[in-house]
Amino acid sequence: MQQAQYQLIIVGGGPAGLTAGLYAARDRLKVLLVEKGATGGQVLATDWVDNYPGFIEGLSGFDLMDKMAAHADRFGLAKKSATIASLDLAGEIKSITLENGEVLTATTVILCTGARPRKLDIPGEYEFTGRGVSFCATCDGPFYRNQNIAVVGGGNTAIQDGLHLTKFAQKVTIIHRRGELRASKILQEKAFANPKIDFIWNTEVLEVRGDKHGVDGLLLRDHHGDEALLKVTGLFVLIGITPNNELLLANSLQTDKGGFVITDEEMATSIPGVFAAGDIRSKRSRQIINAAGEGAVAELSVEHYLGNKAPDNSHNRSE
Ligand code: NAP
Repeated sequence: MQQAQYQLIIVGGGPAGLTAGLYAARDRLKVLLVEKGATGGQVLATDWVDNYPGFIEGLSGFDLMDKMAAHADRFGLAKKSATIASLDLAGEIKSITLENGEVLTATTVILCTGARPRKLDIPGEYEFTGRGVSFCATCDGPFYRNQNIAVVGGGNTAIQDGLHLTKFAQKVTIIHRRGELRASKILQEKAFANPKIDFIWNTEVLEVRGDKHGVDGLLLRDHHGDEALLKVTGLFVLIGITPNNELLLANSLQTDKGGFVITDEEMATSIPGVFAAGDIRSKRSRQIINAAGEGAVAELSVEHYLGNKAPDNSHNRSE
């Protein structure tokens, strides 16, 4: 049978991909990590990471990812900076076609393509990202101590994270485009009972305003068309996330209704030899530490899969 070039190709170089890469390189697999931009993924956009164990004083998202990349480099992880045009994951040998026409083949693939926060696409949102506009309450909440801030959204994330933000902020105003929340009743009850939370219903955010110091207000419009300015120093946009699954659509991978890849607890997808880790997975907790942990689990599953396939040691690997 035709031999694949690699035992493992990792698609995506965020915390999940780099951790899978570290484990695979350290285990001396023939592995390649393919990433279209700089390694680091979404974390590069995180100003400050305060909750990654071992970094007592915290560190910037950039520094954390730089360290993860350097750690994988220490074990000689091969990386390729390239844009993937298509993936064919169905057969025993998986093939990955790059935009320049080059075709890479592997026996196993770990998908670590991540997700991106859904955006409002309004003026000021991009300009003030990291300076008053955030997409992650766990990451950035502590920067808003004693401030008046706003959350957009009416789902579980907006309400749960709105509650979390009351630990820091003086007041949290939740702005929702409809008159009722999508979030679970128990979260709703908690939010309605919290004296630090106010709601603005049936209202959209039209614009984020501010100056060189950061955000100072939001332009709002209600369903009657009336506009108003809300004075806040921070806006958390918590309106869901979108999986980076565009490359996966042509493959018959099982996904949830949001398009996130379903895996078992060993990170195996519905296609043999294909694993997924990090934010591309269907799951609830989306922290850097989860992604890194899943990267490690996925790589160990790859080892198990490769061991089971090898005729000479299949008995050792099947326990
Ligand atoms: P979600 O359930 O899709 O809710 C998104 C919210 O944002 C909705 O209220 C939606 O409004 C609003 N929204 C969407 N696009 C908008 C736009 N352009 N402008 C203004 N508002 C907009 O997303 P999520 O809250 O991130 O939750 C994702 C999944 O994770 C869900 O399945 C959720 O149950 C789960 N989750 C669970 C927990 C938990 O169990 N504790 C915690 C967090 C997340 P409409 O309501 O009008 O559509």
